[in-house]
Amino acid sequence: MSGGTKPPVLVSACLVGLPVRFDGGCRRVGAVLALADSHTLIPVCPEQLGGLSTPRAPAEIQFDKVGTVGDAATVDDAASNGGTATGDTASSGLTVATRDGRDVTVEFERGARAVADIARLVGAKVAVLKARSPSCGCGEMYDGTFTGTLRPGSGVTAALLEWEGVRVLNEDDIRAGHRTILAGSDETPAQGDA
Ligand code: SF4
Repeated sequence: MSGGTKPPVLVSACLVGLPVRFDGGCRRVGAVLALADSHTLIPVCPEQLGGLSTPRAPAEIQFDKVGTVGDAATVDDAASNGGTATGDTASSGLTVATRDGRDVTVEFERGARAVADIARLVGAKVAVLKARSPSCGCGEMYDGTFTGTLRPGSGVTAALLEWEGVRVLNEDDIRAGHRTILAGSDETPAQGDA
C-alpha cells in the first residue's frame, strides 16, 4: 500500500506472536503479520481483556447448556433470535466453562465488549481472529466436551463483532490469500506462514 493511512484491522494477539494463549504461548502466523504492510494491525486478546489470567484453564462454550433461546447454537443465533449479542448471559443463554467446570461466561462477555469498544474506537471494519477459539473463532467451534470435536458456531467475541457489522476472518482465510478482501488492501496474495 502506498501513501495514505493504513486501514485498521483487529487481530487476535496470539496470531501476531504475543504470548496470550491459555497455555502462555502464541500461534504466530506469518501471513497475518504480513498484513501490516498494508494495514494497521490492532492486537486484542478478549480473554485477557475480560480479566482472565495467563496462563489459564482452557474453556469451551457449553452448547448443551444453551437454554433461554431454544436451540440456539451460537451468540449469532441468540442475537438473531431476539437476544442481544452484547454479552448479556440472560439474553444469549450461553455458558462458557473451563475444563474443570469454572463458569467464565462473565469474563468472556466482558472481553467481547472491550474488543467491540476497541473496534469502534479505531474504526475497524475487519477483524482477523483465531479459528476455533471460544472467544475468537468464527464458523466452527469446539463443542464444549473438550474432546476436540468441532461443530458449527462462533466464539463470543467473533459473534459480537459480526453483530456490530465487523467482518470477521480467520488465519485460514488469510493463508488462503483472502487478504484482497480486506478493506483497503492491495492485490498481493498472502505469502507463507511462520
Ligand atoms: S484466540 Fe483470542 S482469546 Fe484466545 S489467546 Fe488468542 S486472542 Fe486471546
